[in-house]
Amino acid sequence: MKIIDFKKYTSIHIGGKHDVAVINGIGNYPNLQIIGAGNNLLLSNNPPKMAILGDEFDYIIQKGDKLIVGGATSSGKMLTYCRKNDIGNFEFLGKLPGLIGGLVKMNAGLKEWEMMNYLHSIKTGDGEILKEDINFTYRHTEIKGIVFEATFNITKGFSKEKMEIFIKMRDNQPNLPSAGSCFKNPKEHSAGYLIEKVGLKGYNIGGMAFSSMHANFLVNMGNGTYDEAVKLINLAKEKVLKEFNIKLETEIVIL
Ligand SMILES: Cc1cc2nc3c(=O)[nH]c(=O)nc-3n(C[C@H](O)[C@H](O)[C@H](O)COP(=O)(O)OP(=O)(O)OC[C@H]3O[C@@H](n4cnc5c(N)ncnc54)[C@H](O)[C@@H]3O)c2cc1C
Repeated sequence: MKIIDFKKYTSIHIGGKHDVAVINGIGNYPNLQIIGAGNNLLLSNNPPKMAILGDEFDYIIQKGDKLIVGGATSSGKMLTYCRKNDIGNFEFLGKLPGLIGGLVKMNAGLKEWEMMNYLHSIKTGDGEILKEDINFTYRHTEIKGIVFEATFNITKGFSKEKMEIFIKMRDNQPNLPSAGSCFKNPKEHSAGYLIEKVGLKGYNIGGMAFSSMHANFLVNMGNGTYDEAVKLINLAKEKVLKEFNIKLETEIVIL
């Protein structure tokens, strides 16, 4: 067990202090909600029992054309490994915060560059699962249970230029605390466009706001709370549904 202060731990700086279990062995833990580094989380005032992976799941092993990465390994560590070992395709991990378990579960990425593109298999409490047996779409997978390890297909050729382009693509992201994109992009329009069109770009309730820099970023301007965040999320959903007949779906995971 470990006490985590979620106001400090999560990237959006919301949440109380809670006991969190530390998982040290592969298995099924049906009563625990696994979390990663908290870059995509909005914690309610009454979250479920949570768990993180222990340090033994923080590793990178290269075997031929496969990279075997522990679920608790950070995106930054993996990017550095790829750079040092001249491995291509993972340049998009620059400025994509999270741990490999969370990144795979969310199919995180930038536009069409996403984790599932390069995945070979994962290790869960039910054994090895091949990518072919995982249903996934944009920013979503149907992975059940905890990702303890992910194996990726690798190719040679790290591109510094590509990494710099990816990092530049994030120049429009606000510096204030957030959990990344608040909503998934619907097929018709980007979520940021829709939020702007319904007049909510820069709009705040208390300490939370849809960023004036990038409307799909729900930012914490200081002492923002869970209740304020949820009010804004619901307001955007209502307005977009009314004006565009589009149902916005949150990308942020609410616990
Ligand atoms: C400034 C900023 C920019 C961002 N930009 C992007 C972006 O460009 N593209 C993008 O896709 N995302 C982006 N994000 C969101 C975030 O980086 C990703 O969602 C990332 O996958 C979160 O990883 P995490 O370890 O922090 O997971 P958490 O936020 O802790 O958890 C996210 C989800 O993953 C699940 N999970 C965590 N660990 C595991 C595990 N081991 N096994 C199974 N499930 C697990 C949790 O239950 C939860 O449902 C951004 C976030 C921030 C703060």
